[in-house]
Amino acid sequence: MIRPVYSQRAMKSPYWNEALETMPRQELDALHLRRLQSLIKYAYQNIPMYREIYDEAGVRPEEIRTLDDYVEKLPAIDKQHVLKYQLQAKAAVPGAEEYISFLYQTSGTTGKPLMEPGHFPDIINMWTYQWWAHGIRPRDVFYFAFPFGTFMAFWSAYFDAHLLGAQVISGGGVDSKARIYQIQQFRPTVLISTPTYALRLAEVATEMGADSRATSIRFISTAGEPGSMVPGLRRAMEQAWNAKAIDLYGISELWGSTSWECPLHTDRMHLGESTAHGIVVDDKGRLVPNGGKGEFVLTNYEATIQPLIKYRTHDVVEWHKEPCDCGRSWLWLRGGVLARTDQMVTIKGTNVYPTSVQALLGEVKGLSERMEIHIDREEGNGVFDRVCVKVEPSPEVDAGKCSALKVEAEGLLRARVGVSIPVEVVPPMSLPRYELKAKLVFDHRSKGVG
Ligand SMILES: [Zn+2]
Repeated sequence: MIRPVYSQRAMKSPYWNEALETMPRQELDALHLRRLQSLIKYAYQNIPMYREIYDEAGVRPEEIRTLDDYVEKLPAIDKQHVLKYQLQAKAAVPGAEEYISFLYQTSGTTGKPLMEPGHFPDIINMWTYQWWAHGIRPRDVFYFAFPFGTFMAFWSAYFDAHLLGAQVISGGGVDSKARIYQIQQFRPTVLISTPTYALRLAEVATEMGADSRATSIRFISTAGEPGSMVPGLRRAMEQAWNAKAIDLYGISELWGSTSWECPLHTDRMHLGESTAHGIVVDDKGRLVPNGGKGEFVLTNYEATIQPLIKYRTHDVVEWHKEPCDCGRSWLWLRGGVLARTDQMVTIKGTNVYPTSVQALLGEVKGLSERMEIHIDREEGNGVFDRVCVKVEPSPEVDAGKCSALKVEAEGLLRARVGVSIPVEVVPPMSLPRYELKAKLVFDHRSKGVG
């Protein structure tokens, strides 16, 4: 592949596409409205799923005249709709089979995997914005610590690294030790992996007697699960590799709708508004005011074979539409994804989200980021949800300090969440290690008494 040549001016710019990234909100919204209108019309005319859903709701595409109409009149869809219509072959453009250049599966963290047919150009140019914003340039060398299966996230990153014009090394299906040797030999500057695996790889390096902090890696670009937006994870990854961690949040069935860490504020994520439109709504589907929290609902413009319009992500975010001082007008989320609506636990009337428990425990010095959150249901005077946490101490912590850590962690959770959550500090290296994504939440309620 021939690598592109950039002008001096482009190389110095902090933007991959300055006009789009800094477009004033009013102009950007006008552009979104035009794109939404044409996509809704296209979907209604070509995809049976949308025709059925919109007909049932009594909405015609031409009635969506404003962004308020989009919020108020257009029905939202979610994964269950897509799964149902996929079984009837009604979720994608009929006859598009010959244009499908790849087929992926979602990772199925929240249920059945979804098939995602796609067309090659649709999935590129998503990661490039983020990398450019953080100072990654074509001279950088990417290392993919990824086995290249049907999990989609890093395929799009792989194509984007080529698009950027960088050198790309695929770690492929080799084991972790071989990957450390490859990193030492090829001297890549950008490590692409899940946060879980970036930490695992550093552990393996230590086991081999190698120093992960002394490698050529300068950036760790992660996706697939919460990353450096969780302060404890950021600290762990940056310390392990002596490199900058950059978080990207995407939902694999919604490719193009990625949000990524602001280069200036580590607690902000920008929605890539070049390829997606996003709103935040309450449980009745009403728009949440700027600065408020609710469910993120997205439309991706890029997936032409199976576009997802007004798709409920079940992710809880706090959104901001005021321009960011990094210069971008693109909406931003404080703290990335705060919770999943379907993982909410109610303890004595208080709503608790596993991701907030994870974030809070990250503040306890001496605890590692390795943890499991177990949700159960118990019966007494009524039926209650119950949460308990198993967490490993940091490797340097002395075994004698574990009971003090437990007291501190439980006290912090009680003070900040408002309910008692037992914490068990388990021995170092006793929780399972994962190659791709860590399993954080173990929800036993469906099998329980409820
Ligand atoms: Zn910003």
